[in-house]
Formats: sequence, C-alpha cells, structure tokens
Amino acid sequence: MKFKRLLTFALAATLSFSALTGCGTTNPDSTSAADTTKTDSSKTNITLGYLPITHALAVFETKELLDKKSDSDIEVTLQKFSSWTDLMDALNSGKIDGASVLVELAMGAVSNGIDLKAAALGHKDGNVVIVSDDISDVRDLKGKTFAIPSNQSSHNILLNDMLALGDLSIDDINVVQLAPSEMPSSLASGSIDGYCVAEPFGAQAVVQGYGHVLYDSTDLWQDSICCALVFNGGFLDKNKEAADEFLSTYKEAGSLLDEGIAKEVAEKYLGQDEKTLDVSLEWIHYDDLDISLDDYEQLSEKVKEYGINDNPPSYNDFIYQ
Ligand SMILES: [Zn+2]
Repeated sequence: MKFKRLLTFALAATLSFSALTGCGTTNPDSTSAADTTKTDSSKTNITLGYLPITHALAVFETKELLDKKSDSDIEVTLQKFSSWTDLMDALNSGKIDGASVLVELAMGAVSNGIDLKAAALGHKDGNVVIVSDDISDVRDLKGKTFAIPSNQSSHNILLNDMLALGDLSIDDINVVQLAPSEMPSSLASGSIDGYCVAEPFGAQAVVQGYGHVLYDSTDLWQDSICCALVFNGGFLDKNKEAADEFLSTYKEAGSLLDEGIAKEVAEKYLGQDEKTLDVSLEWIHYDDLDISLDDYEQLSEKVKEYGINDNPPSYNDFIYQ
C-alpha cells in the first residue's frame, strides 16, 4: 500500500512539474537571440538559457533588477530548457547568448573547440546526496544504482568524492544519467537507490518522504563549484559593454539573494511549493559569485582525476575577465 501511494504521489509530482517546465525543449514564447540583438528601444537584448532550478536564481533576480532600472542599456530574455543537452546545443551554436549551466559542460565544450567564457558562479554549495531509507552509510551503496544528471557535472565529482570515503569507486555502483526532474520519482519507484542533482529536486524527495540526505556538498568538497554564468564568445566579442552591465548587476543580484528574496524569486520563476523551497534554500547561497583561481584549479584537478575532462581549459582561457 505504501509503495502504491508513493508511486501515485511521485507520478503526480512529475506531472505537475512537467506542466511547469513544459513538454518541449524551449519556451515557444521566447524570441531567439539572432533576431533580438537590438530592440525598438535601442537596448541590447541578451537571451539567456536556463533550467528551472534554484541554481539559476541569480539570473532571474538580475532580470528583475534590470527590468526595474530605467537607465539600463540592456534587456534580458530568458529561455527555458528542459535538458542540459538542448541548452548546450543552443549555447554552443550561438542561438542563445549565454546561460546558467553546469560548468563542466561548458568546460567540455571549450575543450572541444567551442568559444565559451564563464563570467561568474551560479551559486555556492547547494547540492546534496539523496538516498532511499534503506541506505544509511555510503558502503550500503555497493552494487546499487545511483543517478546523476550528466557525467560532466559536479554531481559526478561529489559522487566520486563520497565513494572514496567508503573505500568504494565508481566501478562498485551502477551509475545512470537522468534528467533532474525524473530523479525524485525514480527514487520513489525504487528504480534508483540514490541521486545527486541540482535543487530543488533533492529537497522534493525529503519533503515528500521517500529519501533522506546522506551528505551535503560541504561535507564532501569545500568551496565546490557547480553552475556558472557562461557567455558565447561570439556574443561577447560584439557586446562587451552589455555583458559587463549584465555581469555587474548579476553580482549585485547574488548579494541580494538572502533566503527571503531567494524564496520569492523561486516561487515566481519555478513555481515550487513553499515547503520544498524552505528545505532546499537552506543548502545554497549566492554571495560572492566570482570564480577564484584557487577554486577553479581545484575543480580542474577533480575533473582530470575522475576522468570527466582530461584537458580542461586554463583559467585564463576560460574565465571572462
Ligand atoms: Zn549548480
């Protein structure tokens, strides 16, 4: 009975989230970057891609601030995606000017010759490892199935860091890649035993009672880097002033995003319920979104160590300055 009820709940949660995120890959109301470089009001338009996660709140808050600024020279169009693959295709091809995206995906694109620059962090901390109730120690994961959103992700790094604590390696478990919104329902149905993914999908499992936190990212990797604000290089070449205005407002937005404002913005842009946000927003913060050399070098070492990227771009080549 309990299992059946959980399944029903999970299905309802998935359906309601699908309704929020839309079935398509992009928001049909969004205008493409190509035809909006200059608007009627002579403002420069910046089209930014995002997935509906709390890790992108600084982008939403930046749009809120710029929309209120009468003397701003830029206008922001947000374009929603439901998968990292679709978002990266649009970013790499210049269909969107920038995005809030998993930094490892952008590093991978640069390693493959795509011109992208990371301008700031998306957030600080803000990831947890969620497991089913029969798992109480990392060693219990041996032989189990664990989901991450992409091999090229900080979630993969956190998984490897966690397994090392239990003298396990990635070869001791079955790793699957799932879309973030599928993870809570997959845990509820028993098709996976744990996951690590962008928020609020960890908090969803906690609030709905079919998983618990085994580790917080701060237990595994101090000053972890996850999402970044990334621009297409071609856009930056032609629109440096606009990018700089966006960036300075973005950093201001990050400093404003305390738990209260973050919750307001998340409710407006993500439509998540209050309880889930209350749990999720305790794990994340947005102050000081500069990408430091030390933190980037630590990330570069980890992507090499775990076989995520053998040739990550250097700080000077990848970080917008
Ligand atoms: Zn993130």
